[in-house]
Amino acid sequence: METLLLVNLFHELALKGKNRPLFLKRAKAHVARALKGLGAALEGEWPMALLFRLPEEAWPEARTRLQDTLGVEGFARVLRTPADLKALKGALEEALKGETFRSFRITAKRSDKAFPLTSPEVERLLGAFVQERTGAEVRLKGAEREFVVRLLPGAALLEVERRAGLGGLPPGVSGRVVALLSGGIDSPVAAYRLMRRGAEVVLVHFHPFPLLSGASREKAKALAERLVRFQHRLRLHLVPFSEVQRHILVEAPAAYRVVLYRRYMLRIAEAIAREEGALALCTGDSLGQVASQTLENLHAVNQAATLPVFRPLIGWDKQEIMAEAKRIGTYETSILPDEECCTLFAPRHPVTRADLGVVLKAEARLPAGELMALALKGREVFTYAWPGKRLEGASIMEHGPA
Ligand code: ATP
Ligand code: MG
Repeated sequence: METLLLVNLFHELALKGKNRPLFLKRAKAHVARALKGLGAALEGEWPMALLFRLPEEAWPEARTRLQDTLGVEGFARVLRTPADLKALKGALEEALKGETFRSFRITAKRSDKAFPLTSPEVERLLGAFVQERTGAEVRLKGAEREFVVRLLPGAALLEVERRAGLGGLPPGVSGRVVALLSGGIDSPVAAYRLMRRGAEVVLVHFHPFPLLSGASREKAKALAERLVRFQHRLRLHLVPFSEVQRHILVEAPAAYRVVLYRRYMLRIAEAIAREEGALALCTGDSLGQVASQTLENLHAVNQAATLPVFRPLIGWDKQEIMAEAKRIGTYETSILPDEECCTLFAPRHPVTRADLGVVLKAEARLPAGELMALALKGREVFTYAWPGKRLEGASIMEHGPA
């Protein structure tokens, strides 16, 4: 008996028209990379599925990794036996160890028409066997547990544990996007939603160090370390924002500070996008959630960008965003305390209907070119890889031209 791993690809990948072969190829490469180092060997390949041989002890880790792998509709641990009933019973016996359930069903699929029994006969015989061993009842609809048996020429496959995957498209098939990552709950979820659509996301975090502590930087790094699981390679730009803030604090009406911070963030992110070859930006805004996210303020902020700014959470409420953050494993990091650049100097009464005229007048007093250059030059860039270790970070000077 051998342990195999069956991976079914996300159904949407079958709909990709002319791009379909490319999308499937990328999805398969992504799955193979997720299993790196586990000793998985590709055995068979169908248009929408992959079959790997897997050392038995690698299953728990393979399961954990595949649960974070985009492009996977579902996957299963499968036992391969000779194509006879006795061997299948042996495999079932093995699968039943340590399991309890009250109802079950066997689903047989016979692709080898030379097999001496029909599918319903196999279902009945194996069903009786499981019933005898467990005392559970057979239930064809809504069974607690299902065992799928595939009868192939020369072998039988018994699916003993099936898990749902994340779905989504594999990284990079949709091009590159720069996501603004704050350290709050929303922006990591927004970045993830774009990763799911096949965008290769590059993260940008603005931090108030050395004006304030470096806590938000550490948080952004921890979030990147979590998010890299969905993309396998992820770059994080840490941008010093305190000079921009200092100038805004001095030159702009207090009520307009956050709107101006945001406009500068978009501008700097856009410069990074140009460098990275990204065609859009992404933020975690949700309409009306806080003062800076009123329609008027989003409009005033948006005018600073020329690239499209994607806001995948614009129609989500906080509960939905929190639930998703917990699902993708960023929530616990996001709620850690930090000193974020926007909150500390936030005015008590921020403007909720920013007037673009006031914004532009204040900005005219700021040395835009100089502030942008300072922020870009002071950057640190970290690259994360998964599975595997974090790659070394380097300041932008070692990374290439600003
Ligand atoms: P989040 O939970 O993502 O922080 P929020 O509800 O707190 O969002 P804001 O603080 O108004 O909302 O931020 C709106 C968006 O602006 C964030 O989702 C993020 O994309 C971007 N942003 C805010 N602060 C920063 C920062 N320091 N660095 C990078 N992006 C930021
Ligand atoms: Mg925030």
